[in-house]
Amino acid sequence: MNKFISSSIMSGKLENITGLNTSPLVNHFCLNICGIRNICYSQNMLKTFRKSSNPSFKLNGKNLSQKLLTVEEIQSIKFPRNTVRFNAHGELLNYTHLLNLVRIAKYYEDTAKYKSNFPLKVFTLWTKRNELIQLLEDNIKASKVKMPSNMYFIYSSMYIDNRTNKNTLSKLFNKVFTVYNSKYALSKNIKINCTGKKCVECMLCYTDNKVTYINEVEKKQQPVFIKTKEERSTKKHSLSNYNLIGVK
Ligand code: SF4
Repeated sequence: MNKFISSSIMSGKLENITGLNTSPLVNHFCLNICGIRNICYSQNMLKTFRKSSNPSFKLNGKNLSQKLLTVEEIQSIKFPRNTVRFNAHGELLNYTHLLNLVRIAKYYEDTAKYKSNFPLKVFTLWTKRNELIQLLEDNIKASKVKMPSNMYFIYSSMYIDNRTNKNTLSKLFNKVFTVYNSKYALSKNIKINCTGKKCVECMLCYTDNKVTYINEVEKKQQPVFIKTKEERSTKKHSLSNYNLIGVK
């Protein structure tokens, strides 16, 4: 039976990171506006060999975007790792979706302050929807929303080879993430600082640091996996045992 909202245990590049994903296949922005929609790994995989993940991702999107979550509902979402990636798949559906992600991070920040042994989890959101983040910034300034200190915002550049200037975005964004074609990056002498490392060994996107622009070279097949239930129950995994699921 589907849970109300379920997280994903990630692997490959996102090993030891928990993902909170939604489906790009029912997201108007992903289907009609996103600049990489025609080459999106996530859409392709959820349409083909990882169709099985789509129902729970769809349910997550529905439950995150229709109303503000209660504390009990937030508590019911399991985050087995202390580093969480929002939107490893999918994109913000609306402002309610964004507010719920902020409330999840705030719950973990506030609870860690008064409960010993309660881990301070870190949450990073990838999004192309600057207008929603700008609305959040305005509401924080108007004291309508409290910003958690354990949440980072990464603007995902709309197009390949076309870095968005951070000064044109909401000030809440910590970084801009851009994917480049390898030949283009070489010809323009672009420094690639998101390399083959796993995120937990790097943590540039999950910590407060001075790096503003993250640049990654486009790969034919992104090494991001979700472990199946059966694989999670065994200690050893070979690469061929994983189900490739891709990234946005
Ligand atoms: S820069 Fe580091 S933390 Fe960010 S996506 Fe790349 S490997 Fe992960």
